Amino acid sequence: MSLPELTEVLIVGAGPTGLACALSLHKQGCRDVLIVDAVEHGEDSSRAFAVHAATLEVLDSIGCAQPLVDAGSAQQGIKAWDGTQLVTLADFTSLKSQTKYPFVLTIPQTDTERILGEHVHAAGILVRRPFRAVGIQPDAHDANYTRVLFESGQTVRARYVIGADGSKSTIRQAAGIGYKDPHTNNESRGNLERMVLGDVTFQDQLDERFSGPVATLSPDNLFLTIPYPSRANGSQRMYRIVCGVPTSSPPPPSSPSKEYLQSLLAQYGMSDMVFPNRKPDQVVQLDKVVWSTRFRTHSAIADKFFTRLGGDGGVVLFIGDAAHIHPPAGGQGMNLGLRDAVSLGSALAAHIKATASSPTTISYKPLQEWADHRRELALKIIGLTKSILRVASLPDQYTWIAGVVPIPVKLVTLRAWGLWLLAKSGWMQGQIAWRLSGLGNV
Ligand SMILES: Cc1cc2nc3c(=O)[nH]c(=O)nc-3n(C[C@H](O)[C@H](O)[C@H](O)COP(=O)(O)OP(=O)(O)OC[C@H]3O[C@@H](n4cnc5c(N)ncnc54)[C@H](O)[C@@H]3O)c2cc1C
Repeated sequence: MSLPELTEVLIVGAGPTGLACALSLHKQGCRDVLIVDAVEHGEDSSRAFAVHAATLEVLDSIGCAQPLVDAGSAQQGIKAWDGTQLVTLADFTSLKSQTKYPFVLTIPQTDTERILGEHVHAAGILVRRPFRAVGIQPDAHDANYTRVLFESGQTVRARYVIGADGSKSTIRQAAGIGYKDPHTNNESRGNLERMVLGDVTFQDQLDERFSGPVATLSPDNLFLTIPYPSRANGSQRMYRIVCGVPTSSPPPPSSPSKEYLQSLLAQYGMSDMVFPNRKPDQVVQLDKVVWSTRFRTHSAIADKFFTRLGGDGGVVLFIGDAAHIHPPAGGQGMNLGLRDAVSLGSALAAHIKATASSPTTISYKPLQEWADHRRELALKIIGLTKSILRVASLPDQYTWIAGVVPIPVKLVTLRAWGLWLLAKSGWMQGQIAWRLSGLGNV
């Protein structure tokens, strides 16, 4: 298969953000859109598992919200267990007056990408695979165009290039744009610096308290259990589990084994909740590990989300992981990327229409404003995810709250008091749901 030589919009990367951006452009009437991806098939692993209300609101504008809701499972809250109390952390039902989607939807990323891909196909948008972009350069014939070079030796000239090619973005690097953690204080994330995740089944039947996400908090770690939308292996429910790896341990393997995950489950899991009178060696047992991986919880943001090659050449824009990455706490990464994508579709379509009607006075200001706004939101999300990790990874240490409590208090004791207060306050549970939902961050 060959590539066309010329297109108005070239989206590099057919992950969730590239697909959503193409649909958004199409919805706004842009028809000259090409998507390319380096690999023959999309990745077949569950990765991002939560879609929040604000994301569903924007996906509704491109016709994809309801199919996602139908394929996923609407969770009304997130609970935390700290060894003594099971507390609602976030109550999404409190968002009823603000959104059509007062819940967090659990759905594996494979299903999200499949649904977006089906809509892209139905819209007749071209997705060309496997074509790996390897560089960009200004077009010699028309300064408003960018020439995108492919590993196959082909080139495509595009007026607008959208880098949706993930955190290692070739397009971002070729455009010479930096990508780093916006905070210089390098604070420790303790055991949550390196984490593992798995899609698993348990030998022990987990009761209805595990029909939604449960975060088991220990002095210096977090063990998260989230049920899959549908049951796997007959009646056995599959769960996404996530846990930090102790800083004293060697790096986790790239696909942690059942034994590896079981040892973390025994140390940090929710056995105390499942077996109220448990003996010291009685722990919840894993049955099968369907998929597992490891990751580092680092953050980075691109210096610019919008640039013109060589200062006044072709337009290059960035969305999704190519623009920002952050720890998975609160399931924010793909959500923010999808909202970047749909909003860029609207902003770019408006710019293209304005340019067509008055070609002599092209203004790039709306694209710059889109980029500044998205970058500001990404900085906020990086701050939010870092705060969640900070609370979740509190070390087993004492602190001194001069003037408030005249004796040293353990940090985890303070957290337990906080959870106790939270249990009494529907308002606080609603506030946490609001922050996670992204509704204040569209
Ligand atoms: C293990 C894991 C767990 C995660 N868990 C969560 C979670 O719980 N919650 C959450 O919100 N997020 C999570 N994420 C992050 C989430 O997966 C990403 O935010 C999301 O995939 C970003 O989408 P994207 O479209 O920007 O980039 P990607 O999904 O990375 O897609 C980029 C696409 O570009 C293509 N590409 C790359 N380079 C080139 C090139 N040179 N030329 C052409 N094509 C190219 C790739 O093949 C790929 O298809 C997780 C990620 C991982 C890896």
